[in-house]
Amino acid sequence: MTDVIDAPADVAAINHWLGGRAVAGSSGRSGAVFNPATGAQTGVVDFASVAEVDRAVQAAWSAFPEWRALSLARRAEIFFRIRELVYARREEIARLLTAEHGKVLSDAVGEVTRGLEVVEYCCGLPNLLKGEMSEQASTGVDVYSIRQPLGVVAGITPFNFPAMVPMWMWAPALACGNTFVLKPSEKDPSASVYVAGLLAEAGVPAGVFNVVHGDKVAVDALLEHRRVSAISFVGSTPIARYVYERATAAGKRCQALGGAKNHMVVLPDADVDMAADAAVSAAYGSAGERCMAVSLLVAVGDVADPLVEAIKQRIPDVKVGDGAQPGTEMGPLITREHRDKVASYIGAEGEVVVDGRESCPADGFFLGPTLIDRVTPEMKAYRDEIFGPVLSVTRVDTYDEAVRLVNENPYGNGTAIFTRDGGVARQFQFDIQVGMVGVNVPIPVPVAYYSFGGWKASLFGDRHIYGPEGIDFYTRTKVVTARWPDPATSSVDLGFPQTR
Ligand code: NAD
Repeated sequence: MTDVIDAPADVAAINHWLGGRAVAGSSGRSGAVFNPATGAQTGVVDFASVAEVDRAVQAAWSAFPEWRALSLARRAEIFFRIRELVYARREEIARLLTAEHGKVLSDAVGEVTRGLEVVEYCCGLPNLLKGEMSEQASTGVDVYSIRQPLGVVAGITPFNFPAMVPMWMWAPALACGNTFVLKPSEKDPSASVYVAGLLAEAGVPAGVFNVVHGDKVAVDALLEHRRVSAISFVGSTPIARYVYERATAAGKRCQALGGAKNHMVVLPDADVDMAADAAVSAAYGSAGERCMAVSLLVAVGDVADPLVEAIKQRIPDVKVGDGAQPGTEMGPLITREHRDKVASYIGAEGEVVVDGRESCPADGFFLGPTLIDRVTPEMKAYRDEIFGPVLSVTRVDTYDEAVRLVNENPYGNGTAIFTRDGGVARQFQFDIQVGMVGVNVPIPVPVAYYSFGGWKASLFGDRHIYGPEGIDFYTRTKVVTARWPDPATSSVDLGFPQTR
């Protein structure tokens, strides 16, 4: 979607943020931004050239020495101000999210709030950046480790959490003393520029936080730039794999979080109403465009019939519409093309219980909640990450079959088990090959002081994002061995130093 020349005259121009201010793009390339609830174009976003990405990285490079040298106390003060400003403006940010992503306002406020938890965790940066010390490791010798920032780091983010996922990256990166270049999704880019303004208002010096918009050209320029030390990526699995391979080949540290196919296992002893409430919430919230959405329900034994019936009963009550309208529970999908692709799964395979094409607003990119029963592992609806409001049900006879399905799936982001049996739930957490597990919790996104990340094709790299692993990712340790002997005791000793 480049070279937009016939955009309506009243659409907003969405610019880069370089060196502490908004800067209009000069590449001659841009993309259209839509309000998915109406289908109308509302913005035109600049797409960065290689030279513009270079400008952003140079701004971050120039700002690094001063930011890195700022005392932990002063940096923490700035973080407390960021927290206050983002909290105070959470509704403005949420409105931008709803206008470009489509998620309903309450969900958008929830996104900002969950992102803020990571900022709050980072307010404790003096504690997070502590090293370790061993006094008298050898006679008269002390050994200690210190954590230092990497330099300029970059984040590349997906459309589905335009405020929260960037916060997962820039908050720990800046807290650790790095400077940052963000390449947000070109589909809903406004929140990133708005937040850049808040960071400046909070006292983040010019150049410490930069935003470049764009497509593959901007991403590739970041992956290749010699001054970028690390890349955090969140998005689909094929692009995550590509980013990881290119970034690491260029000698950069990389964490690349990919797609998902999250199974919710319901055992025969589960409370059917509770499981149905959870499945409807987790499958259709944000129109299923969450990497932790439940897209597959694995019904074990005789729970299947009552569970499918309970979900079917609930679907007509889900209020689908423009997320900016009060009372709406589910908004549209991100683009017309994506809506059509999601809709193509309906009726192709399995037994359609509720067809979302039949009951949704005509304007915009809407698709209603859809339920497909008797989906089997060889079907596309089972294998693909559909990323929309389509819940598939797979019926199995035993707990062991359910576990085998989850473990054989190439993705390993989230999973959940619904049961009243604590022993079986504990066995599940032991058995399951997935990074984030919910026990009677359908969307187990970890709190900010743990780390977020999947296994298998849901993560390339060895560090999860935010929390303690985020601090590890954005720092490297240095170990110092020090002694202060009396010069009079000094002598030449060519032997390899030994502890004594
Ligand atoms: P996407 O992979 O299409 O895009 C992500 C980013 O990569 C965007 O900034 C985009 O501009 C860029 N990009 C796209 N194509 C590229 C290419 N060929 N070369 C270089 N860069 C490219 O993902 P999306 O559609 O924006 O987001 C949805 C996906 O993100 C889903 O698969 C979802 O599961 C995943 N996701 C994962 C997590 C997680 O934590 N694991 C969280 C949120 C979203």
